[in-house]
Amino acid sequence: MSSPDAASLLPEAALASQLLASEYGLEGEVSPLSGHNSNFLITVADGRRFVLKLAGENATRDVLDLERQASETCRSAEKRLEFPQTIETSRGENEACFRTREGQVLRGRLFNFMPGASWWQQMPPSMGRFRDLGRCLGKLGLALSTLEHPAARRTHRWDLTAAAQHRSKVAFVKDPWRRRILEWAFHLYSACALPRLAGLPRALIHGDVNDENLLVANERILGLLDFGDCLHNPRVCELAIALAYAMLDVTDPLRCGAETVAAYHEELPLSKDELSVLFPLICGRLAVSIAVSTERRRIDPDHPNWFVTEERAWHLLERFFPFDPAAAARILACGAGVDPHPQSGLPAEQLLEKRSRLIGRSLSIAYREPIKMVRGSGQYLYDDRGRPFLDLVNNVCHVGHCHPRVVEAGQRQMERLNTNTRYLYDNLTEYAERLCATLPETLDTCYFVNSGSEANELARRLAMAHTGRSGFLVVDGAYHGHTAALISMSPYKYMGAGGEGRPGPGVYVVPLADGYRGEHKGQGRSAGKAYGDDVGRVIEKADVAIAGILIESLLSCGGQVIPPKGYLETAFGHVREAGGLCIADEVQVGFGRVGTHFWAFEMQDVVPDIVVMGKPIGNGHPMSAVITTSEIAQSFANGMEFFATFGGNPVSCAIGLAVLDVIRDEGLQEHALQVGTRLRDGLRELMPRHDLIGEVRGAGLFIGVELVRDRSTLEPASQEAAELVERMKARGMLLSTDGPLANVIKMKPPMVLSADDVDMVVRSFDDEISSLGAR
Ligand code: PMP
Repeated sequence: MSSPDAASLLPEAALASQLLASEYGLEGEVSPLSGHNSNFLITVADGRRFVLKLAGENATRDVLDLERQASETCRSAEKRLEFPQTIETSRGENEACFRTREGQVLRGRLFNFMPGASWWQQMPPSMGRFRDLGRCLGKLGLALSTLEHPAARRTHRWDLTAAAQHRSKVAFVKDPWRRRILEWAFHLYSACALPRLAGLPRALIHGDVNDENLLVANERILGLLDFGDCLHNPRVCELAIALAYAMLDVTDPLRCGAETVAAYHEELPLSKDELSVLFPLICGRLAVSIAVSTERRRIDPDHPNWFVTEERAWHLLERFFPFDPAAAARILACGAGVDPHPQSGLPAEQLLEKRSRLIGRSLSIAYREPIKMVRGSGQYLYDDRGRPFLDLVNNVCHVGHCHPRVVEAGQRQMERLNTNTRYLYDNLTEYAERLCATLPETLDTCYFVNSGSEANELARRLAMAHTGRSGFLVVDGAYHGHTAALISMSPYKYMGAGGEGRPGPGVYVVPLADGYRGEHKGQGRSAGKAYGDDVGRVIEKADVAIAGILIESLLSCGGQVIPPKGYLETAFGHVREAGGLCIADEVQVGFGRVGTHFWAFEMQDVVPDIVVMGKPIGNGHPMSAVITTSEIAQSFANGMEFFATFGGNPVSCAIGLAVLDVIRDEGLQEHALQVGTRLRDGLRELMPRHDLIGEVRGAGLFIGVELVRDRSTLEPASQEAAELVERMKARGMLLSTDGPLANVIKMKPPMVLSADDVDMVVRSFDDEISSLGAR
């Protein structure tokens, strides 16, 4: 073969002409057609016109055959419409394969020329045209459902089920407002469409019914070009893609779209689920089109075809942005007689008012404008307005909101048996065995109760029973539960609003081992020991003998603090020397969240005497556990029965087992390490640009971002933190503040958080902190 360089110098039109003469025996004028592909209009001497398509390098024979069959299927189903018809070569082949004089191998296909204006050439489209579009798409959808082709199960860059592949291009958008809109469109797509696509009816689709490929004459659709993107997909993607383009540049896009949807629905009924993903899919397609253009602009900003849709797509997304997704979906579906977002219960404002009458006043509610949540799935929560929120704070729904395996395990057990620990049933001991297997060998005896508070109460009693003492050490800023005894052991509460301002009798407070702000900050490797020794000093001064220390392995309410290495080892050493027990409160931080280990205390190479588990243990089902040594359990068995009505019931055990299974089967601990590192790294990369970020700390998916007004004085930026939380909520991300100065943004999301979610959080943080600074 001769040098491909020589061949690539030849203009494509000249190559097209050579191929035409050699393989089809045709001579004529060859002029390039607009669009993304190498297509040419051929006009021969007798006036006949053809379209020649040079095949891309990666269009295999079976894909070309798929295209041809798809087009033929459409033609036989809809005689009224024109579709590309393949013209055979002089040798009777569907495709020409031609070697140029220069040795380059070219493949091409010749089609009949289809007359008519493309959709965008006859603007504005009438309502009748929107209806005809729906009717045609419905009919073609039915016809294509009958075609099976092995090459159809493929993907490509325009595959709407893989739109997220373009999401990182959001970063290329320079204008912050537009960046936010594009981010929103991808978020809406990822949270509201993507999780549902797997359950929708699938079939072969054309895959690119855009305003260039649709031929029209006023009210009517005349034909459909270019089957080059056809693939097996959820059927509703065809409608979404077509609408994304048909709605460009029209006055009332959703009402026009509704005409198409209604007409489609008459031919090929759409399910409620299909109707509910339609709007997010349309936004997703617009987002992909923009993202691809944005990327291409960096390659060739003057390309004649690449940017024909870009500005129009921006305008349409800008118009969609203020809509509640549920409202948009309802407009689109109004002609189909199906409500994709049926409302139940009271609107948020009325609910708030009713709640304030009926529910104790001391309960708080998040955000200036409270959210009425109606559904949860994976890392997302959804409100009554159809808005998706990325949940970055709920460490209870550990394996994802409403995880189907957990839900099913609970349902199955609930319909068979629910009783209590006074009877024998298998899953109590099976569950105890599974939990103990995650812990050091000495921790071998389980108790099951119903909440973190109840578990900490029990841990206190175990320690008191074993030591015969009643003094306890707790960490400054800590929270351990809402019972009277635990409030008096929770500086977070008794030092806060409404608190007594001092610990309960026999409770002694040790300093928070805070490497950023505390007394021993900046002491490097010796800080852990120094904070640990503080514990020894507090014990010396205590006037009630110490039964133990109740301590979180990492400090949550204290401000997402990771104690320096060696801290727990030193602290536990002092406690044990004084005859006390070490109780690790793993309610917030356990079950693989820290990524490197299953339990956070393992990060510090210590073995507690008692471990307290809660929150994530049941993925939202109210349950908790206390696990200790057989020796301590023996001391507790003094004759008094221990019984918690609901603790360890068969339903809770089934749910707890399912949670452990999912963590293992989905590799969530390793995942937490990966995405957690990505999140911390991403946030740290913002620090040179944003002085407001004083520190980013954490382990796995347990992260704190401490905001300060001045990095040298560490003046807390509490108001800025609160404002940032509100702004991130407006962007569809749920966060909250914590720490004694309320200036730490905490992140402890469901463990199924994705890398795409992480990137969105980092980009949004970047933008919002910039605009906070610009205020
Ligand atoms: N321990 C810690 C560390 C906690 O964060 C909490 C709850 N925030 C509890 C105990 C109490 O758990 P619950 O609310 O389930 O009683």
